[in-house]
Amino acid sequence: MKVEIIAVGSELLLGQITNTNAQFMSARLAEIGADVYFHTVVGDNPKRLEEVIRHAEKRADVLIFSGGLGPTKDDMTKETIARHIGLSLVNDEEALRQITTYFERTGRIMTENNKKQALVLDGSQVLPNRNGMAPGMAVEKAGIHYLLLPGPPHEMKPMFADEAIPYLLGVNGKEEVIASRVLKFYGIGEAELEHRIQDILEKQTNPTVAPLATAEAVTLRITAKAISMGEANRLIDPVEAEIRSVVGEFIYGIDEDTLSSKVAELLKEKGWTLAAAESLTAGLFTAELANEPGISTSLAGGVVVYNEEAKKEQLHIEGQLLDTYGVVSAPCAAALATNVKRKFGTDVGVGITGAAGPTPHDGKPVGTVWIGIACADEQPATFKLVLSGTRNTNRTRAARFALYYLIKQLSKK
Ligand code: ATP
Ligand code: MG
Repeated sequence: MKVEIIAVGSELLLGQITNTNAQFMSARLAEIGADVYFHTVVGDNPKRLEEVIRHAEKRADVLIFSGGLGPTKDDMTKETIARHIGLSLVNDEEALRQITTYFERTGRIMTENNKKQALVLDGSQVLPNRNGMAPGMAVEKAGIHYLLLPGPPHEMKPMFADEAIPYLLGVNGKEEVIASRVLKFYGIGEAELEHRIQDILEKQTNPTVAPLATAEAVTLRITAKAISMGEANRLIDPVEAEIRSVVGEFIYGIDEDTLSSKVAELLKEKGWTLAAAESLTAGLFTAELANEPGISTSLAGGVVVYNEEAKKEQLHIEGQLLDTYGVVSAPCAAALATNVKRKFGTDVGVGITGAAGPTPHDGKPVGTVWIGIACADEQPATFKLVLSGTRNTNRTRAARFALYYLIKQLSKK
């Protein structure tokens, strides 16, 4: 199913509002495995809207419109579509009753304009509006489906979820269900990931595999269509296994998992507590963990040991170690992890030290970061990063990488 989203409204083109409706719809459509190839934005102008419709009809099976269903003169979406596909507009009794009731209840005078909102495309399925007056519509003409939704997000969103999605699933064949699973990656870029699993990406038809990068993570969504959820999941499982066999080391979770939620989950599972010693991240790592509700059972606390004196005085990092290896070094990260673990009496200690930039620190190039993780009685593990961002993106990424490596350490048997 190819879907095109057409947002109507001059205020979108003037930059007065952002097209958040298209973003919302696209995210939901991706979940049901529909392909969205185009987002179009057009002003409140019948001629240009019709031009957009003509283009969209050549490349999509479903056209979803948002906006222009209101009572005012510039609202002309349904009039334009009606003319274009040769359907008349007729009064919808139910919609008119709702509008009249609304005016009676609020004691306001209803104008002729408002009656216009009860007009719907003849033969269309009327999509009730629970949060406003203008009903939505869905109609099929010559194999193309036209869905008309109101512009205000608080009206569009519930209508989209409760009416439009079920309608589209119906279009897709009533017997089909769609299941999807999102794999979350860290420590690998989108391009590198796509490159490594190119074969898998290319050969898939059902399930399909779609990459997506957000600020938080690089993800792969595996979507399968089948006659039941169980069957859809059975199609997904081997594809997930195949992906894991190639790039599994970078996967930290699935679906709603985040780096911090995964760390919280693993600590809780083991009944372990944690403390952190942060240098360049200065608390960012601990703050990320504190996003998780209920983390107090696992997170004891942390110290920010920014300069050398603080490292020596608060955590007893030996001067000789610093003289020999420098603060940005594996031995320093390991000592921070071990000593903060001892200081707080926890099961896990994390140490983060590095050169955030813009100038090199202690002879170490900007972006060099060392992360130390000490778990239970084991020797601390250390990880080196070479980051290439700005000072603050380096600091954020160092904190996130620490969460990621911690997940890897905690997941080990
Ligand atoms: P109304 O009955 O309120 O006139 P409508 O269906 O005619 O609704 P528009 O007039 O196009 O819709 O837009 C109404 C409001 O909805 C806009 O002022 C804006 O705040 C919001 N809106 C419209 N389109 C979008 C969009 N694509 N993304 C986000 N918000 C939007
Ligand atoms: Mg309007």
